[in-house]
Amino acid sequence: MTALLDLFKTMEYGPAPESPAAVNAWLDEHGRKFGLFINNEWVKPKGTKYYSSYNPATGELIAETAQAEKKDVDSAVAAARTAFESWSKTPGVIRARYMYAVARNIQKHHRLLAVLESMDNGKPIRESRDVDVPLLARHFYYYAGWAQLMETELHDYQSVGVIGQIIPWNFPLMMLAWKIAPAIAMGNAVVLKPASYTRLSALLFAEVIAEAGLPPGVVNIITGSGKAGEMIVTHPGVDKIAFTGSTEIGRTLRHLTAGSGKKISLELGGKSPVVVFEDADLDAAVEGVVDAIWFNQGQVCCAGSRLIVQENIAPRFIQKLKTRMGHLRVGDSLDKAIDMGAIVDKSQWDTVDYWVKMGEKEGGDVFQPDIPLPGKGLFYKPTLITGLDPAASTVQEEIFGPVLVSLTFRTPEEAIALANNTRYGLGGSVWSDNINLALDAASKIKAGAMWVNCHNVFDAAAGFGGYRESGFGREGGREGLFEYVRPKWMARPQPELASLGLDPATNTPAKKMTWGEHTPARPARPEAGRANGHGLPPVDRTPKMYIGGKQVRPDGAYTLAVHDAKGQVVGQVGDGNRKDIREAVEAAHAAHLSKPGWAMRHGYNRSQILYFIAENLDARNAEFVRRIVEMTGRRQKSAQAEVDAAVERLFTYAAYADKYGGTIQETTLRGITVAVHEPVGVIGIACPDDYPLLGFVSLMAPAIARGNTVVMIPSQKYPLSATDFYQVLDTSDVPGGVVNIVTGDRDHLTKTLVQHEDVDAVWYFGPAEGSYWVEYESAANMKRTWVGYGLPRDWVDRGQGEGHEFLHEATQVKNIWVPTGE
Ligand code: NDP
Repeated sequence: MTALLDLFKTMEYGPAPESPAAVNAWLDEHGRKFGLFINNEWVKPKGTKYYSSYNPATGELIAETAQAEKKDVDSAVAAARTAFESWSKTPGVIRARYMYAVARNIQKHHRLLAVLESMDNGKPIRESRDVDVPLLARHFYYYAGWAQLMETELHDYQSVGVIGQIIPWNFPLMMLAWKIAPAIAMGNAVVLKPASYTRLSALLFAEVIAEAGLPPGVVNIITGSGKAGEMIVTHPGVDKIAFTGSTEIGRTLRHLTAGSGKKISLELGGKSPVVVFEDADLDAAVEGVVDAIWFNQGQVCCAGSRLIVQENIAPRFIQKLKTRMGHLRVGDSLDKAIDMGAIVDKSQWDTVDYWVKMGEKEGGDVFQPDIPLPGKGLFYKPTLITGLDPAASTVQEEIFGPVLVSLTFRTPEEAIALANNTRYGLGGSVWSDNINLALDAASKIKAGAMWVNCHNVFDAAAGFGGYRESGFGREGGREGLFEYVRPKWMARPQPELASLGLDPATNTPAKKMTWGEHTPARPARPEAGRANGHGLPPVDRTPKMYIGGKQVRPDGAYTLAVHDAKGQVVGQVGDGNRKDIREAVEAAHAAHLSKPGWAMRHGYNRSQILYFIAENLDARNAEFVRRIVEMTGRRQKSAQAEVDAAVERLFTYAAYADKYGGTIQETTLRGITVAVHEPVGVIGIACPDDYPLLGFVSLMAPAIARGNTVVMIPSQKYPLSATDFYQVLDTSDVPGGVVNIVTGDRDHLTKTLVQHEDVDAVWYFGPAEGSYWVEYESAANMKRTWVGYGLPRDWVDRGQGEGHEFLHEATQVKNIWVPTGE
């Protein structure tokens, strides 16, 4: 009786081990040695090197897997290329049938997949069984539906081609699902490389899809090192790269693909905040913190690794948290009764330990509960570090382990400022029983996924992806489809970059960057002087720059002559420099953030302003036509068509200003998941030379319609339509700083924009070489880019010059998860 009472008091329970027998049998069947999976077959690798996979919870060798070499990558890409030809032409309804079959087969092999995942990665079986594998199946079901609907819902789009996918080790199966399911749904074929630490579940998955009857070559799995990853990325037969992993490697991949015309999506690191307000249900919030940071041993890209708690409740909350930490069970990943398993690899264990010691060095108080760890295996205690400065490296850097740092705040404004005080922006949660406060904070924290009173909730129906240095592109939801399609009219861009002499291994030019260097022009007054015909000095009509709603002189006081088709000077514009760009960016930021900033205005208000711009442009229709004829030498009719199209385009985006705000996502959450289409921020836009007015308007209008503020670099050759345009802006109630116009050398000005830390995206419609540099240089702070590679686009055609592609580039999707019910 006493023993029973004791048990009741301590609530101790014994181990509940899951059997590895089925997995061992599968491994033995393969002789514990795996080749590559190409064309639905096991292929012996060309090289002789193998990599050993260990169970991090026990240290046991599980199996050996091939190290792919160049020839192996070539065969996988070739297989995918061939499969793509037929798979992309297979009707969506048939692709859907295959995907349903894969989803069902995943469910059939659920247990085997989950056990293998836990053995290879070290994660608790409870998580692989209840989260990872169910989400794997869910993604195939969900995207099977999109395969079915592609022809009706995405009729303006086509498949991209062969997709190279590189995934990390923290959620091997889930990451694979996030990547493969949308890709093949949209008719693409895939070459996927799992992370070295966790290769095995991808290989088992390969057999699952082959058994389900997916046609050969649609999915190929290549194991290998980071070098093999690079070979996939640089392979000319690959049309898009999808990567999840560290920001550092993400940056390398951005460099490697710059200018190539390959699409790329990057899901990178994070340091996500968990904000606990004084009125939160503290016990629920403690459980939320457990889910946020100790799920998967904290090896989660959106782990809630920064606790930000209101000062007046902090001592009580931290005490509760410490008590809870004392009840976490750390142990063998196959024990169904544990909360935390093993760290994936010794090197990651060392990294975690390094950061904990660093936290101590930086003045933090390190707390680790007095709980037992197994005698062997890579286990690490749940760790809390309090008392750190917000600028401490332990607070700023991603640790990727079971380590939580904690800060305090007094006011909601301070909480939001602390939450946003990071270069990342992947996820975050807010805890409060005040719905107004919770939703306000969730909308102000800059991150791709925000959870209200929950954390780390995922579903295939809602996209996931980052802001800022957490990368760009979305995985999941309808928004995730656009990574795997291309507008129907557009062929795969094949930019001509021979002049750069790029080294194929590094994708860098042999010579130093001279792009964007510019010497201001000498005076061009004589021709201009003769123009008035009566010998008197002419009245200077050089248009100024347009910054912060004011006409300002260029900082350098230099001008550029504008010539007509016959080479005659028809005007002068300011020759902008770095300082002009910096000032324009500052003005754009001020307009974005001022109260109420442009982004915070109602779409209704923005639409009225756009209608007003359209009307005012139309009122000066003849003048704009004359200007285009004068600069370009084109016929009156063609110039008239351009101005009419520009007016129409403004009407189009006035319409979209309050009709592209987002959707309700049909996720599995009991509650509401809202996809909000937020503005990207400050966008720098370099306009094309063809269609000096229409090109300018087609890019400016979607950006400002969706709440961005812009720094426009008009056509370098024909800038006068843009400088005339600021008079239209001035008379249309556009707040100062929303549209800034800096004239001058396009590449010189773009270089400053793309290197500017406070510019969120750059759109560039200049030559291929400039497109290369924009993509290359954007890697410094991982800004989003959209470039034209110097390829033709018919700006008059509505299919090419307006619509979803533009709105997509002008927005980023934030999913806000709000559970409902008591
Ligand atoms: P990496 O970014 O190095 O690896 C991710 C994937 O990229 C792996 O498949 C890796 O292969 C591959 N890879 C490595 N180098 C290259 C390359 N040059 N070209 C192409 N592919 C490459 O992450 P790690 O696994 O090394 O983890 C390092 C840190 O990254 C962690 O401590 C954590 O902070 C962060 N991280 C973040 C993740 C996230 O989801 N945000 C996920 C994983 C890690 P291989 O495994 O063979 O090296």
